[in-house]
Amino acid sequence: MLSYDSLVKKLDFKVSTKQSLVIKALFLTQNPISAKGLKKLVKINFNTDVSLPTMYKILQTLENLQMLYILHIKHKKTKYYQLKSTKSYSHLVCEVCQKFTSFLDKDLNEELKLSLCKENFILLNHRILLYGVCKECNG
Ligand SMILES: [Zn+2]
Repeated sequence: MLSYDSLVKKLDFKVSTKQSLVIKALFLTQNPISAKGLKKLVKINFNTDVSLPTMYKILQTLENLQMLYILHIKHKKTKYYQLKSTKSYSHLVCEVCQKFTSFLDKDLNEELKLSLCKENFILLNHRILLYGVCKECNG
């Protein structure tokens, strides 16, 4: 996982305070998060209001810089954002409450790498969404 400082150093634009808070908030959360969720997280952790249009603008900038994974949940308009990292995660998405759970799928990753190797394709990282029903909604 990239550190916050090394990530910001990599950026060749001047990071505004709000941008840096949004990036920090993205670091705080392991799971993909919506723009609205991110807005809440910035408010709770840094006591700063970022309007939704500003949030989308910042996310667009980060997306243009190839820093984000954008995840779309099927049948939902909401986009979920996650900072790119060197680790590969799979995400479980609950169909009922839309909660994300991440897990590091080491075995799956190795298997994928092996089979892609045969295709002469080098896998750097991946995102897999698995849909189901979570513990809470199942119980
Ligand atoms: Zn659930």
